Amino acid sequence: MKYRLFVLALLLSLNIQAVFALDIVYPKQKAVTINSPSTFFVGNSAPEIPLKINGQEIPVHKSGGFAYAVKLNTGKNEFVIEAGEEKQIFNITRPAPVISPYTTTNNELPYESAASFVTADDNVPLRSTPVDSGNNRISHFQKGIPLLVTGEKGEFYKVQLNETTSGWIARKDVIWADSFTPAKLLKKDGINDKNYYIFKIDFDKKVPYVIEGSHPFVVKFYNVEGNPDNTFTFNFPLKQKLIGYSGEFDGNSFILKIRKFPEINTKRPLKNIKIVIDAGHGGEENGATGCLRHNEKDINLSIAKMLATELKLRGANVIMTRHGDETVGLTDRVKLTNKNEASIFISIHGNALPDNMDPNEHEGTSVFYYYPQAKPLADSILKSMTSQLPLADDGVRQGSFAVVRNTEALSVLIETGYLINPSDNAYLLDEEVRLNAAKAIADGVENFLTGKD
Ligand SMILES: [Zn+2]
Repeated sequence: MKYRLFVLALLLSLNIQAVFALDIVYPKQKAVTINSPSTFFVGNSAPEIPLKINGQEIPVHKSGGFAYAVKLNTGKNEFVIEAGEEKQIFNITRPAPVISPYTTTNNELPYESAASFVTADDNVPLRSTPVDSGNNRISHFQKGIPLLVTGEKGEFYKVQLNETTSGWIARKDVIWADSFTPAKLLKKDGINDKNYYIFKIDFDKKVPYVIEGSHPFVVKFYNVEGNPDNTFTFNFPLKQKLIGYSGEFDGNSFILKIRKFPEINTKRPLKNIKIVIDAGHGGEENGATGCLRHNEKDINLSIAKMLATELKLRGANVIMTRHGDETVGLTDRVKLTNKNEASIFISIHGNALPDNMDPNEHEGTSVFYYYPQAKPLADSILKSMTSQLPLADDGVRQGSFAVVRNTEALSVLIETGYLINPSDNAYLLDEEVRLNAAKAIADGVENFLTGKD
């Protein structure tokens, strides 16, 4: 009972009323179509009253939360959910698989001679495969980069960078160009700066480039005449840990800025380190819905605020992407980070799952990064969190989230736990767990900076 009152107090602190009647959070409607071999029921019910789905008793977590995966047959599936006197009936339709009478061939079509194109917009991804999802981005081009196209497949053109290197760019992202001539490298300069290693590389026109980063820090510029394979390789013997960089054309000059690793005060490693904390979703975007019907956006904001307090106490310079229940766009979150020249970006989220997965088989914290430079930070945060919290280790993974595809700061996204896993959800509703999560994240950042991890 004490625990119940505690949970109730937490729920009230999150401005949500506790209801211990049978409440099915997911599926969202009683009659739905779900095109999957399985789905799940997520919701809450009084833990002392047996809960049954089609006569089968299913476990209810002491917090009241439950999640239960069910198989779906093709056609109509009826589920009767009973908790004591209460009964709800769900009708879920699984459509029959559509078998196409045609076999679609989608082969690569090579051109007889290369065609000239130019990027039509900023932030155009060059990909390693002709698919527009997944972790296949090689580079991002600004508007007006001349490209040689040697083939096509589906919605993509094949961009030939040199004899051995090619990539794929969406048709919609480029326009025809009249002619193509290779560029000339005019000069390269290093510029002195307190916070960055800055290099200015002048060409007579823009060229496609791939920033490989790492040690040495390598940038390859293609279609540059007078170089082997028309490829000019810029090499900077970087010794320090990589902590953010940017590279883009300003006119026909390529400006590369590599952030210098800050002097770390071992007693106060976070002193003066600029960190952006990003509470995921907000305003019109609720994010995931937990077993007890809490919105992910509120839990994210609660942890983000605790983390801000903790980091400030340790001397960090903290910027938040939102302070309240506001709608903030993903690009605005990245822009804020870059405008403030923050070294570290931490996005706070809570996890959910697609229909074909079982919420009881997925639990714990995972940390995502996109660029390799941010992996050591992701590793350090996850290690710290899983060693200090009751949440399981759900791994460090590369993920193509817009907010972590930011190179100017070390950018990570933390999925603190699964809101549709009853146990994880109860932990995330516990203020003490959230406070400890904030401390553990701060420890993880400190350990990364001091090199303990
Ligand atoms: Zn989220």
